[in-house]
Amino acid sequence: MIKVERKRTEKSEKAIASLKIEKSKKGSYNTPEVNAALKEMFHGKCYICENKQITSYQIEHLVSHRGNMDLKYDWNNLFLACAHCNNTKLDKFEPIVDCTKENVETLIAFRRTGYFGTDEKLLFDMLDCRIEVQNTVKLLHEVYYGSTPQKKMEATILRRTLRKELSEFKEYVREYHEAEDEEKEDLKYLLQQHLKDSSPFAAFKRWLIRDNKEAFAELYVYLA
Ligand SMILES: [Zn+2]
Repeated sequence: MIKVERKRTEKSEKAIASLKIEKSKKGSYNTPEVNAALKEMFHGKCYICENKQITSYQIEHLVSHRGNMDLKYDWNNLFLACAHCNNTKLDKFEPIVDCTKENVETLIAFRRTGYFGTDEKLLFDMLDCRIEVQNTVKLLHEVYYGSTPQKKMEATILRRTLRKELSEFKEYVREYHEAEDEEKEDLKYLLQQHLKDSSPFAAFKRWLIRDNKEAFAELYVYLA
């Protein structure tokens, strides 16, 4: 989870307008305009797990609306999530950190330890003890490890995707250290892309750099 700027764009203006119309006729918040604006804003990533290889997008209410019309059609309460995360969160973890308002990476350290599948461990270290942060950590843990047999299977696939993405990232970092001249510049560009908001699992990649600040000083400057 990373901070996502809820910017006013052409797409978001259209989404807000469509929500106003739907609210007046008690229609659906799931409009094409809302979907397009959320996809743009969240860089096509689930805001909870940061996976980009999603086959099922859903619109998630940060605060469950429970029939409350204002919460149901409030643009600021709508987030893009994958089905796995949306069905994990439900209304069980309230309140959680609002990633459009707070810099999640200063509240939680995203770490992955272990080199082999058997000793792999994902850590969500709290840097702040507020209830929102505690709930977000609980949610992240359940998302990445699952609670029911089906969710455990989904979580295994999610962790595998994360592992592959981080392995590739680490490999590029290693190559960058060994490279010279033009090759080094090319790899630097590649690593910059990996550290951007739009990159999958950016929080994990950035924390890897933060935790090795001295060794990766040149890359540290690219952290948002
Ligand atoms: Zn997700």
